[in-house]
Amino acid sequence: MSEIEVIGLDADDTLWHDERMFMDISSRFRRLLEQYIAGDLDEGSIDVVLESKERSNLELFGYGVKAYTLSLIETAIATTRWRISAYDIHQIINWGKEMLTHPVDLLDGVETVVPLLAERYRVLVITKGDLWNQEAKIARSGLQPYFDSVEIVAEKDVSTYQRVLVRNGVKPDKFVMVGNSLRSDIAPPLELGARAIHIKYPTIWALEQVPEGFLNPDDYTAIDSIKQLPEVLEQLEA
Ligand SMILES: [Mg+2]
Repeated sequence: MSEIEVIGLDADDTLWHDERMFMDISSRFRRLLEQYIAGDLDEGSIDVVLESKERSNLELFGYGVKAYTLSLIETAIATTRWRISAYDIHQIINWGKEMLTHPVDLLDGVETVVPLLAERYRVLVITKGDLWNQEAKIARSGLQPYFDSVEIVAEKDVSTYQRVLVRNGVKPDKFVMVGNSLRSDIAPPLELGARAIHIKYPTIWALEQVPEGFLNPDDYTAIDSIKQLPEVLEQLEA
């Protein structure tokens, strides 16, 4: 196989924990709504409404905490049939602020592996989400010195990766993308002829989920921890 020159790293749930913060807020959200909807709706129904609000808001608000907070408010209004109090809406907005200022909690192994990668390859971070929030997390992560470039994009599809690679002067066969989402981190780079490494994370956001058989497992490498990444990259080059 050809030599690897550039590594692309996803950020949320690849470099630092993210989804578990959303799960914590959504469980607090269900508890908040209990007083309004007791006997009316169950917790599962709240999740269904929230997911559909997130899905329909995506093209207006994009990804990230601020969009999620607005979807929570809309879900609260819909499921309580306008009975949610201003006091409780204020609580939801405060949760959004809490998420935006949440400490960056690096995944196990990131602190040692990222500097190792930077010694050997050019390292690009490719992440979607809210520009302001992602920049703040990168700054707080302490990892910025190891990154050659940080690309905060609106969507992670084939054309986005193509633009990012061209902008950075990277040929797809010299590029390996690493991330936790088959939909966003693995499938599009494969389609461009790049290689990809999937690092499984225990939970994944509903809108990132893919059906069984979405990708052929022979087309990419799957690992359980970023700690395995340097070794797997060497094997890919061998
Ligand atoms: Mg991710």
